[in-house]
Amino acid sequence: MATMESTLHASPAKRAKGGSFLIEECEPRDVITPEDLSEEQRQIAKTATEFARNEVMPAIREIEAKNFVLTKGLLRKAGELGLMGVDIPELYGGMGMDKVTSAVVAESVSQQASFSTTFSAHVGIGTLPIVWYGTEAQKQKYLPKLATGEWIGAYALSESTSGSDALNCRTRAVLTEDGRNYVLNGEKMWITNSSFADLFIIFAKTEGEKLSAFLVERNTPGFTIGPEEHKLGIRGSSTCPLILSDCRVPAENLLGEAGKGHHIAFNTLNIGRFKLGAACVGGARQVLQDAIQYAKERKAFGKSIAEFGLIQEKLAECAAGIFTGEALVYRTIGMIDAALADLDPCIPGASHEIEKRVEEYAVECSIVKVWVSEMLQMVANHSVQIHGGYGYVEEYPAERAYRDARINPIFEGTNEINRLIITGWLMKRAMKGELPLMAAIKQLMDEVISPSLTDEEREGPLAGEDKMLAQAKKLGLFAAGAASQKYMLNLADQQEVMGAIADCAIEIYAMESCILRAKKLIDAKGEAAAGAAVAMAQFYAAQAMQTVESSGRKVIAAVAEGDMLRTQMAIVRRLAKHDPTNTIALGRQIAHHVLEAGRYAI
Ligand SMILES: Cc1cc2nc3c(=O)[nH]c(=O)nc-3n(C[C@H](O)[C@H](O)[C@H](O)COP(=O)(O)OP(=O)(O)OC[C@H]3O[C@@H](n4cnc5c(N)ncnc54)[C@H](O)[C@@H]3O)c2cc1C
Repeated sequence: MATMESTLHASPAKRAKGGSFLIEECEPRDVITPEDLSEEQRQIAKTATEFARNEVMPAIREIEAKNFVLTKGLLRKAGELGLMGVDIPELYGGMGMDKVTSAVVAESVSQQASFSTTFSAHVGIGTLPIVWYGTEAQKQKYLPKLATGEWIGAYALSESTSGSDALNCRTRAVLTEDGRNYVLNGEKMWITNSSFADLFIIFAKTEGEKLSAFLVERNTPGFTIGPEEHKLGIRGSSTCPLILSDCRVPAENLLGEAGKGHHIAFNTLNIGRFKLGAACVGGARQVLQDAIQYAKERKAFGKSIAEFGLIQEKLAECAAGIFTGEALVYRTIGMIDAALADLDPCIPGASHEIEKRVEEYAVECSIVKVWVSEMLQMVANHSVQIHGGYGYVEEYPAERAYRDARINPIFEGTNEINRLIITGWLMKRAMKGELPLMAAIKQLMDEVISPSLTDEEREGPLAGEDKMLAQAKKLGLFAAGAASQKYMLNLADQQEVMGAIADCAIEIYAMESCILRAKKLIDAKGEAAAGAAVAMAQFYAAQAMQTVESSGRKVIAAVAEGDMLRTQMAIVRRLAKHDPTNTIALGRQIAHHVLEAGRYAI
């Protein structure tokens, strides 16, 4: 792969407006799905998968025992294969590929959670800020080393007193009188890759409350790495505090503009979030494969436990979750690629434009992060249950997977913070008139009070799900409209309501993404050959509809009372009315499919 010519794929995805999925219909041809990968991307996926299978998986014990010499060696091998330079322009020793390819690598490498964390921190938050915001000299100095794995990167934003509240950090950087150095004082907490990273992107306050980012090399005087944390999971990754004590950093190591570090911090996290989503999908596939293998082997009551309906139901939930997770990740990345396709990251001023275009999809990136991290937790939980007592002991992989999965709702912005971002961002854009959400809400409010509210009849193999999706969108808008009418600009103070609206948006996007993917597969292969995918989409859509309905009810119950409550609940019931889906039959169909394949397959 290292010799492969780099290519910027122009994404065929539609460059939709961020958040528009709530108010617009989307066609299968407008989205990217894993089935759309090019031959070159499939080859890269194969290289990354084989690397993980042949090099990383056999070394699990050593990795988990924190043999960082071995981990660094594996990173170096990944570098030799070209896997570390996917996001780095060719000019600086990378492959300069699109974000879909970057997701392909993230999910294919991520069969083992500790190594996946190490790898993702390096290629994502530890490298991308330099690609996007670095000066020419910084790029030339650092990117070639980061692309090969000769140097490892880390990203240090969190502090012991400020994680979610990152802008409140206390580390300070003061420019010396001669203007040649910044002197950094403070501490950072929970920094991934610390034990062996060579280059740290460190955020500190300059000029009062303004945040700036600095490139700090490991051996800089005044910079100390603290001891390893003893963690619940991802024990083979390195997590340490950092201490900065009169640490002098050359002024030319300021990354981006002084006082604009928050742009770097948050924009990088948007990309970090979709990469985390891709990595969770890769992890979930491995966990399900272990669960399937065990379920087939374990006998109880004279049968393989894989024959029991309640075990099959869990396998189906996992497979439908992975199918939907893949759909979410690639749809989102496809839109970001479409937005970045005509932009050369090396031209002056590109960072501002990249920031603007990626930020457009902040809500989708947060949805991917929340939904996929919770899906992986569900898969890991089911795997422990399927393993029974063996799921609770270290001898089997289910125990480690369960512990490992727990970190994902915490880092890259906790899932609470991401839920608040989803609703807050949608409402902010609606208020500013950047997304015609208010007009859609108004139209819906007029429609729902009309006695002749009818649902459009749909046709085709997923007609029932299409109808359900249209209703879910209305329900979500109705809940958002009722809440914004009641609380106006004070909605942000009602976090539980914000969370419930976010859950509606999350499930609508997930539901639509899996339906679109299944339709695309029908178009490509025919209904019979796409049977498993259709079953997974139907199975998941039914589950998502329940969440949208219960979240909608929760909002209405909080915002209305008396006659108004009764009227609004009647509207919710009308909007949520749908024919029940036979999820038992679908679950069995899906389980048989993956059991026969011996792994997640569509
Ligand atoms: C293994 C590991 C690796 C990490 N790697 C890195 C790294 O490489 N670089 C880095 O910079 N950081 C890293 N972190 C830090 C991580 O990003 C933070 O832990 C995370 O952002 C949460 O911050 P916190 O721990 O201070 O929790 P807090 O912010 O104190 O949150 C505690 C709880 O309160 C909730 N909460 C906080 N604010 C609000 C609010 N406004 N509304 C509602 N709920 C709220 C949170 O959701 C959470 O449930 C890592 C952490 C771990 C555990």
